[in-house]
Amino acid sequence: MKEKNTKKGRFPLPYILLLVALGAASVGIFLTLRRQPDPPGSVIPDPPVSEEPESSRQPEEESLPEKPAPDADAGDWTEPSLPVLVNPTHPMAEGYMPQLKEVRDGYYLDERAAGALEQMLVDAEKDGISLWIVSAYRSVERQVNNYNNKIEEYVNMGLPREEAVIETSKYIAIPGTSEHCLGLAVDLNSLEEGFAQDPAYDWLIANCADYGFILRYPKDKTDITGIYYEPWHYRYVGVNHARVIMEKKICLEEYLDTLQAVPEDAPEETQAEQTGPVTG
Ligand SMILES: [Zn+2]
Repeated sequence: MKEKNTKKGRFPLPYILLLVALGAASVGIFLTLRRQPDPPGSVIPDPPVSEEPESSRQPEEESLPEKPAPDADAGDWTEPSLPVLVNPTHPMAEGYMPQLKEVRDGYYLDERAAGALEQMLVDAEKDGISLWIVSAYRSVERQVNNYNNKIEEYVNMGLPREEAVIETSKYIAIPGTSEHCLGLAVDLNSLEEGFAQDPAYDWLIANCADYGFILRYPKDKTDITGIYYEPWHYRYVGVNHARVIMEKKICLEEYLDTLQAVPEDAPEETQAEQTGPVTG
């Protein structure tokens, strides 16, 4: 709030003092009228869809939360406040149906994630990066059909049904364990591992968190996620959670674990251990 260009000689000193006094008075009035000052360190998006100012793409280091409050997204994630975990050992709630919103070209996401994805696609384009949706929301019915069809395919090839199920589980997420059915996951550009060499991948890694997305299945976390490396699969968790996860280069399971938020009802011997990683 310092006055600039107060060189002596250009303006008489009393005039300058008057200006300073007027400035101070108006600041005082402004602060008095302003009833709700920003909370300290406010980076809380509300809602995340409208939280994508251009400046958020280059966040200042000090604005990143050290550790998010568990209810950091409470206004957004009403139930639950933390990102919901769906993986081979934590199936989604039976009968769960997200509130869907179309993003583009007949691809739908949970309405909390749809606007954030659209904004990410638009901003990538401004940076000369083309991103397009390969897969977004999938119905549970479709997942079940895909799963059952694959089992039948193996059975028809002569495999015993038990083995056919195991083989199928290596390639298609067991119904109820795919994030795509949550409406919070999107596959972008390519389903090939070579996508990790694409400039679009670098852009995503650098920027996706600012839109609330994370790389869900990192290469060095397959033993934890139970899912093969998928450089194309991004999961919406909200900006606050995403920034911490991407900055610390951890996976969602580890993040929830640090917050001691992983449900304890997972069976001892997991499907992932039996069959190895599957695709998400
Ligand atoms: Zn996916």
